[in-house]
Amino acid sequence: MKRAVVVVGAGPAGLTLANFIQQSGIDCIVLEKSSRIHVENRARAGVLEHRSVAMLESLGLADRLLATADRHGACEFRVNGQSFQVSYSDLYGSLQHFIYPQQEVVKDLVAGFLANGGDIRFSVSDVELRNLASSTPSIVWTSEDGTRGEVLCDFVAGCDGFHGVCRKAIPSTELTEFSHYHGVEWLAILADAPPSTKAVIYALHTDGFAGHMLRSPTVSRFYLQVPVGTKASDWSGERVWNALHKRLSLQDSTWSLTEGKIIEKRVLDMRSYVVEPMSYGRLFLLGDAAHIITPVGAKGMNLAMNDAVTFGRALADYYTTGSDVGLKTYSDDCLRRVWRAQEFSQWMVNMIHADVGSPFFGRLARARLEHLASSAAYQASFAENYVGP
Ligand SMILES: Cc1cc2nc3c(=O)[nH]c(=O)nc-3n(C[C@H](O)[C@H](O)[C@H](O)COP(=O)(O)OP(=O)(O)OC[C@H]3O[C@@H](n4cnc5c(N)ncnc54)[C@H](O)[C@@H]3O)c2cc1C
Repeated sequence: MKRAVVVVGAGPAGLTLANFIQQSGIDCIVLEKSSRIHVENRARAGVLEHRSVAMLESLGLADRLLATADRHGACEFRVNGQSFQVSYSDLYGSLQHFIYPQQEVVKDLVAGFLANGGDIRFSVSDVELRNLASSTPSIVWTSEDGTRGEVLCDFVAGCDGFHGVCRKAIPSTELTEFSHYHGVEWLAILADAPPSTKAVIYALHTDGFAGHMLRSPTVSRFYLQVPVGTKASDWSGERVWNALHKRLSLQDSTWSLTEGKIIEKRVLDMRSYVVEPMSYGRLFLLGDAAHIITPVGAKGMNLAMNDAVTFGRALADYYTTGSDVGLKTYSDDCLRRVWRAQEFSQWMVNMIHADVGSPFFGRLARARLEHLASSAAYQASFAENYVGP
């Protein structure tokens, strides 16, 4: 079998790329280790930036999103019972976030690709990348029925997430890794609970951070800062709700938190990671395979989709004009945005935790929040990074 491009991984990066190049007339195959049911029900992110939405619209894949997604233009900060809002849409070009769960994005992308005759092999295993430094790399894998498959290609798109095989196929001498552990841990909770807020809430409390994010009219995501080394099983439902009530509470307000059945609970690795360059020979890394970022700032899925569009354009250029300029600049083009997002996420991490590193940083967090609450210029800068640029 010979294909122009092999896409490894059917997450937001791989599926966006597959649709983009399919619509540019470039032949590809997608190899995914999980089942279709699994990838279409994996709840993770839920915030799409305007650029991601515009790109899905241009591919004709945004009908369901535009019909059902909530639009958000403000977020709320709570500090020990006091609150203030930042109306970031008003401060930055009327741009908004779209609240649409990642698994719904994945469903739309899978449906769009298959409707146009796309080839996705789900539930594959033992994916191996060969001859990446040559002009005809190949990929071998084992199908669900146990048969071995092999495909020769021009390019491999490594979209298999942080723990995938693609980045590991690159000789370590060819890469530089940047990794930072933020020194805090979060319990991520998904609950069958309608949102208790119209705007995302970031709460700084002496017990630790708490966050209330929106996902759908019936499902909400919550985050709780937990002691380093905590296991998710240490947090019973009762303990989770008690902590959320306490940390999110407001003085002099009738605001209340609606509880619901907890459907997922996991401790997040609050680590940032970037690899440079994002390519080796004919292998190009996209999304979490090349960089991970904390959920603070809601950038991960959007960066993955941006990589896909950047690589898709470079491929379209290569196959229509023969120019490899876009392929050569792919890594630098993506990394500029990745590092800017990392800087913003790190800035926010330091602002919404009372105890990153030392009490000194706790005081800096408080000063930063007070500055944000009171300065229009600081809010405008926040808005540019949060919803734009
Ligand atoms: C709890 C949580 C909350 C988050 N919240 C947000 C948020 O609010 N906003 C935001 O923007 N981002 C958020 N993120 C991050 C976001 O989910 C990721 O950045 C995004 O999924 C990256 O997409 P991707 O396609 O690069 O990787 P993935 O979504 O990880 O997809 C990789 C795919 O490759 C497959 N795969 C892995 N190994 C192999 C292999 N060997 N062979 C074949 N296939 C393989 C996997 O099964 C998977 O389907 C969150 C993440 C988590 C975990």
